[in-house]
Amino acid sequence: MEIPEYDEKKLLRENMEGEYSNSDFAEFIETLLNDERYDDVEKGILAYVKSNGTINLSSAQKYRLQKLVDDYDIDCSICGESIPVSEVVDNNDGLCSYHRYVMGKDD
Ligand SMILES: [Zn+2]
Repeated sequence: MEIPEYDEKKLLRENMEGEYSNSDFAEFIETLLNDERYDDVEKGILAYVKSNGTINLSSAQKYRLQKLVDDYDIDCSICGESIPVSEVVDNNDGLCSYHRYVMGKDD
């Protein structure tokens, strides 16, 4: 998963323009922040991104963040499309929303 470059101002501006791809990422980061499996350094990076976005991360921080988000690179096991960032959390079946619907697993 590619880490988008944004800060708080950019997010606000994009939201006003109806562009939500970075907001989806920001929401995803916020979800990860509540995950107990990360250590203090990782949580620190996630908390920083939550407040400030990704633009000013150091390359070391960005590298660490990249490792975290790469755990959430999921391709649908039927169509092979990558699952959008807004759907990767709690995706236990490895299916995109369309194929989950088709397989009758939508619940
Ligand atoms: Zn699919």
